[in-house]
Amino acid sequence: MGLVRGFSEVVSRSEQPACECWFLDVGQGTSNVVLLGKGRAIVIDCGPRGSEQTIQLLTREHIHTIEALIVSHNDSDHDYNVGQVLHQYRKATRRIFFLQDRAVHNSMPTTFGVLKRSADGDFPSPERLETNAGTAKKLFSQDGVVLSILYPDLMANLEAQGAGRSNQTSAVLRLTCGGRRVVFSGDATIEAWEWLARKLPEAKPLLCDIMTIPHHGGTISDSQAGEATYQRRLYTDLIQPEFGIVSVGTINPYGHPSVAAIRALRDTGVTVLCTQMTQRCCGDLEAIRSSRGVFSMPSRSTETPSTTCSQKSRHVACFGSIVAEISESHVKIANLKRHEQAMEAFSKSTSFNPLCRPGNSASA
Ligand SMILES: [Zn+2]
Ligand SMILES: [Zn+2]
Repeated sequence: MGLVRGFSEVVSRSEQPACECWFLDVGQGTSNVVLLGKGRAIVIDCGPRGSEQTIQLLTREHIHTIEALIVSHNDSDHDYNVGQVLHQYRKATRRIFFLQDRAVHNSMPTTFGVLKRSADGDFPSPERLETNAGTAKKLFSQDGVVLSILYPDLMANLEAQGAGRSNQTSAVLRLTCGGRRVVFSGDATIEAWEWLARKLPEAKPLLCDIMTIPHHGGTISDSQAGEATYQRRLYTDLIQPEFGIVSVGTINPYGHPSVAAIRALRDTGVTVLCTQMTQRCCGDLEAIRSSRGVFSMPSRSTETPSTTCSQKSRHVACFGSIVAEISESHVKIANLKRHEQAMEAFSKSTSFNPLCRPGNSASA
C-alpha cells in the first residue's frame, strides 16, 4: 500500500501497517500528516510561515486525495500554510474542518480567506471542528483507522473564547487503530485535559501510545506559580503516553520546551522526542548540526549552518521529522534506535546536554 518507505528498521510482520503518522519538523510550529495508503492522507495543521514540509511530503508520497484537512488551532504556527495546501488540493480535498475560535475578519486571515473561497465554490464547505459533550465525534473512519475530535464542544469553546485565551480552545484529536492510540494536542491548555477527564468516561487517565506534547512543550496554564504542578498533574492523572513528541524550533523566543514540561514527562517515564534541538540542550549547536536528524525525509532542519542575523543557530535537528507506523497491534517509530545511538554518542561531548536526558541540570 505504498507505506513504510523511509524506514530503516522495518521488521517483517504479517500485519501490514494501517497508516503512518508523520510529525513533521516544521521548525517552531505544528504539522501532522496521516498517510492512509493508496495516495490518500489526512492533514492536521500545516506549519508556520516559511515551512514547506507539509506540501513536500504530500508531493513526495504522491498523495492525490486529502480525506480531511483539519485546522486544530488558528495561531499562525499551525495554520499559516493552509491556503497553500488547499490551493494545491482544491479539487482533491474531501472535507475541511475548522475551529471557530475567534472573530474571523482581521485576526483569522487564513481561515477567513478559506471560508470565502469555499463560499465561492472553490473548496468543499468547511465543517465546524467541535464535538458534543461527553462524546468523541468521528471525523474520519475507514479500514480500521478512526480519527475523532475529543475537545472542545460548543460550551467549552465559548467559555475559552470568553476567557480570551486562544490556546484554551485548541482542539484535541485522537486517532485509533485497533488498540493503538495517537493523541494530537495542538496548543491545548490544562482546561482541555481537565474537561476531558470530567466528560469522557474512558479518559481518566487517557492512555495512548503517542501524544504530541501540547504547545510545543511550553506553558499550559496562565499561572506561573502553578505551571509545574499543572504539568505534573497532566502527565500523572490526566494522560499517559508512551512517547511524547515535541514539535519545536531551535530558535524560539518562548523558551519551548519548558523545563517544567520535560521534567514532568521524564518523571512519569514518557520517552520524549523533539523535532529540533534548542540552546538549552547544547552549547555549540553548529558542532553537532551535520550529524543530526534524518534528512532524507521532508524536514526543516538543515545540514549546513543556518543562522539568524544575530548569528544564532536555527533549524538544528534533534530527531527531525518523526514517523510512526501504526497497525492494530503495534506502533513503531522509524529510526528510533538510530536516534538513541546518536544521542548516546553525543552525550560524551561536554557541550551536549539534552533537556530530555537525566544528566541535564536544568531538568534534574
Ligand atoms: Zn497557540
Ligand atoms: Zn502553537
